[in-house]
Amino acid sequence: MSENQMYDVVIVGAGPAGLSAGLYASRDGYKTLLLEKNGLPGGQIMLTEHIENYPGYEKIGGFELVENFKTQATKFGSEIVTNQGVTAITPQSDGTFSVETNNGEKKFSARSIILTPGSDYRQLGLPGEDQMRQAGRVSYCATCDGAFYRDKEVLTIGGGNTAVEDTIYLASRFTKKTTLIHRRREFRAQKVLVDELNAAAAEHNIDIKLPYVPVEIVAAENGADIDYVKIRNVETDAVEQLKVDGVFVFAGMIPNTKWLTGFIECDEGGYIPADPGSMKTVVPGVFVAGDCRKNAAMQLATACSDGVVAAMGLREFFRDLTSWNVSTCENGGVKGY
Ligand SMILES: Cc1cc2nc3c(=O)[nH]c(=O)nc-3n(C[C@H](O)[C@H](O)[C@H](O)COP(=O)(O)OP(=O)(O)OC[C@H]3O[C@@H](n4cnc5c(N)ncnc54)[C@H](O)[C@@H]3O)c2cc1C
Repeated sequence: MSENQMYDVVIVGAGPAGLSAGLYASRDGYKTLLLEKNGLPGGQIMLTEHIENYPGYEKIGGFELVENFKTQATKFGSEIVTNQGVTAITPQSDGTFSVETNNGEKKFSARSIILTPGSDYRQLGLPGEDQMRQAGRVSYCATCDGAFYRDKEVLTIGGGNTAVEDTIYLASRFTKKTTLIHRRREFRAQKVLVDELNAAAAEHNIDIKLPYVPVEIVAAENGADIDYVKIRNVETDAVEQLKVDGVFVFAGMIPNTKWLTGFIECDEGGYIPADPGSMKTVVPGVFVAGDCRKNAAMQLATACSDGVVAAMGLREFFRDLTSWNVSTCENGGVKGY
């Protein structure tokens, strides 16, 4: 790592999107620096030991996959520096960027930026949630973990589109029984989805309980399984114990983009708009990739794909610094996204 040295590209965040971008950028010969706020690179996927939907691997753990990503990216010269949370990016008069981090007030210079800070699943903060998440019994992503619950019983929590849609997804494909709880009598989800849920309930054994909130996820004696989940009816205060094998929390996501205020405009949810064909943001020289991108698919493979597309865009950008495609960016936003 060289402070005050000019990098061709600084990548903010060393998750799957950042590491994939790093691989492509450094293999293309660009001087590449990844800044990672955590003590280890890898991002969210480090939290799981069971990945079954990353092409090329029937089953692999997050830690092992990240080691492979890291080895491949550094082999071509990507520098990865951990414990460097980026706090600000400031455009310079010569078209380059100054990057500040929270560690030792270091500053880095870059000719281009790829933003890959990801998003975090919103947790409920329930007693037992963290322990059972680590044991792989609490999930925040039905596409990622649904297949682990074939013929099992799960509790789903939430009232928005994702909660309703993914409850139907889990119940119609995998689970023996699915209980959905929501804290209000009405769902926030679109009516068409709620109608679909009600229609699917009998056929796929979905028990819809309203208005209920989760109180505690109680671990079994072995510490690896759920014994039961305590839920409470918010109108009567009656508490029930639900025997389930897994819990899916659908409480939304929080993109790690607050620190970008004043540099790049995010949408109302905090996601960064970009042209999906090029990953270009409205700021020339700044690309975005992965789960923090508006309309991202929030999957490992798509985060990697975003990172690849962004890094490949560097070629065009460095060939002609005036080439930033204005047809996709206008009126302070990215057209259509
Ligand atoms: C438990 C779990 C299981 C999952 N299972 C699957 C699965 O089986 N299949 C699948 O396809 N997907 C799965 N996912 C989703 C997948 O992990 C994400 O889609 C993917 O990690 C997104 O990659 P990313 O690089 O965009 O973001 P992230 O993985 O979130 O990485 C972003 C990185 O940027 C860092 N960062 C954030 N802010 C800053 C900053 N200011 N400065 C520097 N660094 C910063 C973060 O620390 C992090 O390391 C799972 C997610 C979780 C949580």
